[in-house]
Amino acid sequence: MEKTTRRQAMTVAALGAATAVAGPAAAQTKAQAHGGMQDPRSKHPKPPFPAQSQPWPGLASRMNPRPDHGETSYVGSGRLSGRKALITGGDSGMGRAAAIAFAREGADVAINYLPAEEPDAHEVVALIRAEGRKAVALPGDLRDAAFCRGLVANAVRELGGLDILVSNAGRQQSRSSIAEVSDEDFDATMKTNIYAPFWIIKAAQPHLQPGSVIIATTSEQAYDPSPDLYDYAQTKAATMNFVKSLAKQFGPKGIRVNGVAPGPVWTPLQISGGASEGKVVTFGATAPLGRPGQPAELAGIFVRLAEDDGSYTTGNIYGAGGGQGQP
Ligand code: NAD
Ligand code: MG
Repeated sequence: MEKTTRRQAMTVAALGAATAVAGPAAAQTKAQAHGGMQDPRSKHPKPPFPAQSQPWPGLASRMNPRPDHGETSYVGSGRLSGRKALITGGDSGMGRAAAIAFAREGADVAINYLPAEEPDAHEVVALIRAEGRKAVALPGDLRDAAFCRGLVANAVRELGGLDILVSNAGRQQSRSSIAEVSDEDFDATMKTNIYAPFWIIKAAQPHLQPGSVIIATTSEQAYDPSPDLYDYAQTKAATMNFVKSLAKQFGPKGIRVNGVAPGPVWTPLQISGGASEGKVVTFGATAPLGRPGQPAELAGIFVRLAEDDGSYTTGNIYGAGGGQGQP
């Protein structure tokens, strides 16, 4: 009884804190948390958006409008009680939405992010702790193999094990021509999006007991690449592909492997070089729903793929594309 009261109090505190940091989109989704049906076209902000750009990797806290990661809307029900999760790119975007949802579902959560993203990470850590769950902050650059191996070791040590691995961090930099993709660009995209998941999953696998899951963030770009995302799009096809090979390899070990394939989602990735400035203003306009997705709209997908209820889902890709880009 006392525990419930304390948790309720902390949740109220978290909602208060989140209201202060979340944008108007979050306020709109609050109604949904109370059971109302909402029109998906008008549930979240639509283009045109204010022109904006930030130096890579960008901060969610400086975007206008602020992305909605479910700070005020996600309601948990113990679906991941006692689980231990590591999420790369957990400071913002889809990774933050998953971190908030996992904590509200009863999991302890370690997040990785770049040191420049400390302000965003700080907010996520506070939101996880407000649920009475353990939050572990593990900043560092995933392009370094030794860091990736140490990241897994530190997460396992701090969490006391690992049973959910979300390989979500990604690098996307728009270049209108292959002629403008430097060797350094190409290498950074491959290191972040292909090598890092290889290093991390290889290090994590010995720790994953039957019932554990790996979730990788791929993209609509895996199926329908944009001309200005030559290097990025092929890494997302590779991600979709490794989800399927590892599901076959790890199935006999009782470990599930799945992917999430978002369409256009309003995150720092897009306003820090992922989309051209012109594209930022009209971001999401081509989607049949007429707007970009918000990270909060994918939180439940990550939960679904992580929870035991989804036990026959492996080797699959779950889309959230607003009506475009899927096979
Ligand atoms: P985001 O900017 O919020 O998240 C990306 C994260 O990647 C950053 O927060 C950063 O912490 C991390 N990262 C990048 N390079 C890193 C490095 N070298 N070392 C450590 N961390 C690094 O944006 P997001 O859109 O939520 O991106 C999450 C995933 O979603 C990415 O894999 C991205 O490719 C994918 N995705 C995004 C969209 C979209 O429209 N936003 C669409 C499809 C797929
Ligand atoms: Mg970030």
